[in-house]
Amino acid sequence: MRDADGNVYVDLSAGFGAASVGHAHPRVTAAIAEQSTRLVHALGDLHPSDVKIQLLSRLAGLLPNTEARVMLGLSGSDAVEAALKTALLCTRRPGVLAFEGGYHGLSHGPLAACGYSAAFREPFAAQLNPHVSFVPYPYDPAQLRAVLAAVSGKLRDAEIGAVLVEPLLGRGGVVVPPSGFLPELSELCRRHDALLIADEVMTGLGRTGRMFAFEASGVQPDLVCVGKALGGGMPVSACIGRSSVMEAWRQSSAEALHTGTFFGQPLAAAAALATLDVLAEERLAERALQLGGQLIERLQALRTKHRCTRDVRGQGLLIGIELDSGARGLSCMQALLERGYITVPAANDARVVSLTPPLCITQPQLDAFASALDATLGALA
Ligand code: PMP
Repeated sequence: MRDADGNVYVDLSAGFGAASVGHAHPRVTAAIAEQSTRLVHALGDLHPSDVKIQLLSRLAGLLPNTEARVMLGLSGSDAVEAALKTALLCTRRPGVLAFEGGYHGLSHGPLAACGYSAAFREPFAAQLNPHVSFVPYPYDPAQLRAVLAAVSGKLRDAEIGAVLVEPLLGRGGVVVPPSGFLPELSELCRRHDALLIADEVMTGLGRTGRMFAFEASGVQPDLVCVGKALGGGMPVSACIGRSSVMEAWRQSSAEALHTGTFFGQPLAAAAALATLDVLAEERLAERALQLGGQLIERLQALRTKHRCTRDVRGQGLLIGIELDSGARGLSCMQALLERGYITVPAANDARVVSLTPPLCITQPQLDAFASALDATLGALA
């Protein structure tokens, strides 16, 4: 990245995880350019463009072993809104169970379920869904039983129709839950007839080394939200749901109950199709798994060397380096910026330096970053 003053950086954030295929990937920019000569704007759901239809069927094919349907949006928030609305239509229960630390976007539906920071919700509390409950997100195996007991307790309340979860906590601090968490959560949802919504806006599309992070645990969520990386930098998101659940929307007899002027806009749809091609052809999920595994191992060695480092964790190329305070996290990120590395904070006190680099980043770039981080932490202590 080159900034407005001409300084050059390695972007280890990839624009908050949106540039998974890299900034301005030539396949993506060519697809946008080509589409811009054909049609920039179509008529939403009324007369959708060919690229929108192609994108819908491509996304429907992404859920393993599931017949799926898709609703498009512009942002991660939109995808979560669509999932929450679907859950209400399907279950007729307004309650949502969400997790402390979870982040799902800031429009009203997702904001009500924003466990990341109560301060985000409070000014708008009077307008938010009052039927949202929060339980802790499990950080380590010792917490798992208590978390599942809390989930089970909340689900006995018949009001809850949806459980909204990030398979790995992203902005909340890059937390990899214990391995039994998602399977047991899924089982509890099944038992209580609640829908499981996997918010894969940050973790999806190869970021953690698989198409979706939930695949590692073998669960089959009812609804999956994707955004960020989907458009290769263009604003497009999707809620992909099991057909049996999506049927709750029924065939619209009059006006569509959920639509938006720019949902599935042709330029964004063309960019998303090209991005999905690049992800598959460049085998970026495998690359994330391999490069991320090596980087995590290398960074873990820094824990013993620098006492201010509390933890290094992650999966694939979603990695968090937890320091001993938010102030230390911010100083570290500022010092890294001065060394030419863009990183962004995670956890609401900024004590976690988070890395979501483009999945096409090179091994030498990651090696150089590991050395820069080592030097930075040494200088901070
Ligand atoms: N869900 C998750 C897991 C996210 O990380 C984010 C964005 N950080 C969102 C939803 C919201 O996405 P957007 O900012 O595009 O609305």
